[in-house]
Amino acid sequence: SSVQKEEPTTVEKGLGFKGHDMLAPFTPGWQSTDLHPLIIEKSEGSYAYDSNGKKYLDALAGLWCTALGGNEPRLVAAATKQLNTLPFYHSFWNRTTRPSLDLAKELLETFTATKMAKAFFTNSGSEANDTQVKLVWYYNNALGRPDKKKFIARHKSYHGSTLIAASLSGLPALHQKFDLPAPFVLHTDCPHYWRHHLPGETEEEFSTRLANNLENLILKEGPETIAAFIAEPVMGAGGVITPPATYFEKVQAVVKKYDILFIADEVICAFGRLGYMYGCDKYNIKPDLVSVAKALSSAYMPIGAVLVSPEVSDVIHSQSSKLGSFSHGFTYSGHPVACAVAIETLKIYKERNIVEQVRSIAPRFQDGVKAFSDSPIIGEIRGTGLILGTEFTDNKSPNDPFPAEWGVGAYFGAQCEKHGMLIRVAGDNIMMSPPFIMTPSEVDELISLYGKALKDTE
Ligand code: PLP
Repeated sequence: SSVQKEEPTTVEKGLGFKGHDMLAPFTPGWQSTDLHPLIIEKSEGSYAYDSNGKKYLDALAGLWCTALGGNEPRLVAAATKQLNTLPFYHSFWNRTTRPSLDLAKELLETFTATKMAKAFFTNSGSEANDTQVKLVWYYNNALGRPDKKKFIARHKSYHGSTLIAASLSGLPALHQKFDLPAPFVLHTDCPHYWRHHLPGETEEEFSTRLANNLENLILKEGPETIAAFIAEPVMGAGGVITPPATYFEKVQAVVKKYDILFIADEVICAFGRLGYMYGCDKYNIKPDLVSVAKALSSAYMPIGAVLVSPEVSDVIHSQSSKLGSFSHGFTYSGHPVACAVAIETLKIYKERNIVEQVRSIAPRFQDGVKAFSDSPIIGEIRGTGLILGTEFTDNKSPNDPFPAEWGVGAYFGAQCEKHGMLIRVAGDNIMMSPPFIMTPSEVDELISLYGKALKDTE
């Protein structure tokens, strides 16, 4: 296939910030002379508006996070009320605030795949995953297993961009030029069946092979050195990769066999995105630890959390007299305004039966976009619930990528932007995760805009 290119757009070249003072995250092109950022000024329901008043369907829900859309008045009211009562107090040294205590209780009740005993608050998903590592290290030190400290994550995973979270992530761009990953992190196979299965191999056989590879890695390193395994139920930023049949069942059996903790990174999947309250519910995962963020507050305030199993929290509590307190936390751990907003968010999810709402529109979204699978420039469209990825390749094959300099994914993203839709682009993968509140007619609009951008790109 050949791709005709028009005038390069901001998305295609990366959003440059020449003439502005901000060193922007994940943004190439600072050195370019003619680029400017797309400034988003207002949001309403499933839409965002730029500084020229142009309207976009927000098909990524901000950054996989504004689950209740752009202007939920109850979240604004919850924040305002808390700001007027107690804008801040911390949760260190036996002091805390009512919203943080209440949120911990409410949040733990939402997780039913297995019992969770405690919630630790952070400001982000990255901090949640950093906290996981420190909790697990403290836990193994408390148990007198000082060598059991290594983590196994997966290639293509995204766990955040702080030093530890970036180390856990399996994306080369997060490691190169940063001297990462840290030596205690190992990476195992990405469970992407379409890309990595052997000729004639079924999904179940593929999962068995990956579980065997994981077991071999554990045996090679020594099980007594491996502390935890971390996985997103559905990989998000790595290209929306759903697990193949029996994958989590087999991987859980392996880690359990060697007394390795299972950490579910639910930062994208939690609170309904997959049509289940948690990814763990959909894939029957029984984790020891869980990370959440993003939709916890529908992104109206920065907040994340770690959910801790009774087994882990009991060890930490019972040993803290010996080891000293769990000396970890942030000024804003359990920030009362963020907690008040998160409490209201969880209340809305419950009242509106958000899981059912997602289930009611997910088939329209999945089937509508997957109907474009026959396009000659699309290798695979994959996803579940309200998350979808498209991978552009030649000849419908994972082995025939388009030349990187063609920028096919970026070009598609630019066409979406031109037609009025915001998505995520990573190389020749493009991703969407619309707000949970999308209406059927907005889903139809999304599909139509996708079709237009695809036609321009083919
Ligand atoms: N974990 C997952 C699965 C994510 O998708 C992300 C962010 O996209 C993170 C962790 C990091 O979260 P944050 O950007 O809030 O630090």
